[in-house]
Amino acid sequence: MKYEAVIGLEVHVKLKTNTKLFCSCRNEFGKKPNTLVCPVCTGMPGTLPRLNKEAVNLAIKAGLGLNCKISKFSRFDRKNYYYPDLPKGYQTTQYEMPLCTDGYIDIGGRKIGIERIHLEEDAGKLIHEGDKTYVDFNRSGVPLVEIVSRPDIGSGEEAALYLKKLRGILLFTGVSDCKINEGSMRVDVNVSVRPKGSSLFGAKTEIKNINSFQFTQEAIEYEIKRHMELYEEGNTPQSETRRYDEKSKKTYAMRTKEDSSLYMYLPDTEFVPLYISEEEVDELRKKMPLLPEEREKIYVNDYGLTDFDCENILQEVHFATCFEEAAKLSKDAKNTANLLISHVFSLLDSDKVVRIKPSRLAEVSNLMTDEVINSSTAKKLLEKLWEEDFDVETYVKENELFQINDKDVLSKFIEEAAEENKKIVDDYKKGKKKALKALTGIVMAKAKGRANPKLLNTLINEMLG
Ligand SMILES: [Zn+2]
Repeated sequence: MKYEAVIGLEVHVKLKTNTKLFCSCRNEFGKKPNTLVCPVCTGMPGTLPRLNKEAVNLAIKAGLGLNCKISKFSRFDRKNYYYPDLPKGYQTTQYEMPLCTDGYIDIGGRKIGIERIHLEEDAGKLIHEGDKTYVDFNRSGVPLVEIVSRPDIGSGEEAALYLKKLRGILLFTGVSDCKINEGSMRVDVNVSVRPKGSSLFGAKTEIKNINSFQFTQEAIEYEIKRHMELYEEGNTPQSETRRYDEKSKKTYAMRTKEDSSLYMYLPDTEFVPLYISEEEVDELRKKMPLLPEEREKIYVNDYGLTDFDCENILQEVHFATCFEEAAKLSKDAKNTANLLISHVFSLLDSDKVVRIKPSRLAEVSNLMTDEVINSSTAKKLLEKLWEEDFDVETYVKENELFQINDKDVLSKFIEEAAEENKKIVDDYKKGKKKALKALTGIVMAKAKGRANPKLLNTLINEMLG
């Protein structure tokens, strides 16, 4: 039988606010446990939560970036359950009336629907050490949005593509830092398999808290195969929650899935319904920055960049900012992109900070375009600029790094090289391509790396070819 997979994703995203959702404790990662807490976020009786407007605005921006309708009225509900990291005994979330609905993400011509985006608070964190368990409430009350897709995704590859697009939109709108290693973006997957063309849903498994897009893809592919094999054997998969083990590349059953009705959602009577006026939405819409897709169009049409260039530059907001600022000052933006991707990005540390000013990158690029320096000098200059800032043109002049464009000078180097390397010249005349490369290298070394590579190539061909 032919099968098809039905996949939906639920992504929890930490909002990039200064403070928590209902109190003024700071929203920061990696601080000493229980130092970012107050009576409100630790659920003390008699405390009054106050909604953080900045969080609401970021959630609306997420909705706008994901083509959603913004609800005029939404409401907070209590999701009741008991857990040691949830001192209130309930999580404040939006259940019946979410803030944003009916959006989509375009993944290369196919639209994946977004059912809803709702605002909610995060819970604390349990830390297990030996036979002891500690609780850290720093994360309690941190603002999240949960972005729930429709079950429109058909494969692990599509899921990874959806997540990549989603991350780009959330990053460029400033909604979240999307740091997966800090838990700012957490993915839950729902997978089921059914006979191709059927409108019924097969038994669904949920895989929780997968911490990379690659693992999400792998987990989904594993689950689809597992379900299909069970059906082929005449069995039915269990509806259950499973976890993905990255080492064995398999999923394992955790518990059978609880019905959402068991949570007993009730309206949170501490809040009046959240009212968002059209004017407020319009105001935020006006302030929306260009999304990655819109930037890509400009890069390709105005600057002549390739898909590969765009994908690399649009990985991080500050990469894009650096490129755009440099491109404005560049005579050849495509050359600037090439320098950024092949030389500057190779210098990045794990913090991914670009330590070169965009204006300096443009200066180096322009000297290359004007044929004042060649590409190997450009590379050396960028490596030096990574360590310290300096005026590029002055430095090139003082250190005589000009490209050698003089035919006579280069011809002399070629003659010398040919004289000293007769075997290579013979190989070259026999048509060996490697010999040309070797010869070019030798001449380049004689020219201290400053030969005009195009001219050098032409001259070698003329003189020895
Ligand atoms: Zn607090």
